[in-house]
Amino acid sequence: MGLVRSFFSGIYNLIVGLTVTGKHLGRHAITLQYPKERWPMPERSRGVVVLLSDQESGKLNCTACMLCMRACPSAAIMIEREKNENKRWEPTKFVIDNTICCFCGQCEEACNFDAIKLAGKYEFSVFDQGELHYNMEYLGELGKDVPYTPRRKKAKKKPPAKPAPKKEDEKKPPETKSEQMKEEKKADKPEGVEAKKEDEKKQDTPVKEDKPAQPENDKTEQDQKSDQADKDKKDSGN
Ligand code: SF4
Ligand code: SF4
Repeated sequence: MGLVRSFFSGIYNLIVGLTVTGKHLGRHAITLQYPKERWPMPERSRGVVVLLSDQESGKLNCTACMLCMRACPSAAIMIEREKNENKRWEPTKFVIDNTICCFCGQCEEACNFDAIKLAGKYEFSVFDQGELHYNMEYLGELGKDVPYTPRRKKAKKKPPAKPAPKKEDEKKPPETKSEQMKEEKKADKPEGVEAKKEDEKKQDTPVKEDKPAQPENDKTEQDQKSDQADKDKKDSGN
């Protein structure tokens, strides 16, 4: 009886197993032909540390502010710097020791210049331990194809200042004495249109002529009568 039960339970388990296998037969393969094929890594995956470059000029974004070096808990970053011709700091040496890096991401968090990032690159196994000290050129090379969203806004270039408009009314001060004399004479005389206007006003205003003295012949009759009366009074008085 026990033999029959174990026989049928074995057949049942076989059918269940074949059913699970049959379900996955039509699906795509999960395995990859590494190293010919690679899974794309998520953007926030923490692989090897790289240095990022400007997307337009290709220059390293690092300003040698040393914040990442101070933030690193493993002291895996070593930076040397000097000032360039524009009196700005730039790194002359930037080394990351991958033998002690713990991939914590503190350096990326501390950086304000989108200059350092933990990229999704995980293939850095080597035979010699010394090869795990990455220098600045190699770190920049690794970061060239690493996509990133710039967090820092670029300063807008100021447009060139417009020249001040020339005032037409402004005249140059006279340089010689003769020019100064001419200027003063001109100032005394009304010029151009204003002078013409003044002439026109003079012509329009009627000239007040002095009235000529009336000749005695032109005296009115009343005047003559009054004169005669005065003469008569004088004569009678005498
Ligand atoms: S990931 Fe962490 S340990 Fe590695 S360099 Fe950056 S701060 Fe240092
Ligand atoms: S990588 Fe960033 S934090 Fe580190 S020195 Fe350069 S600019 Fe400063």
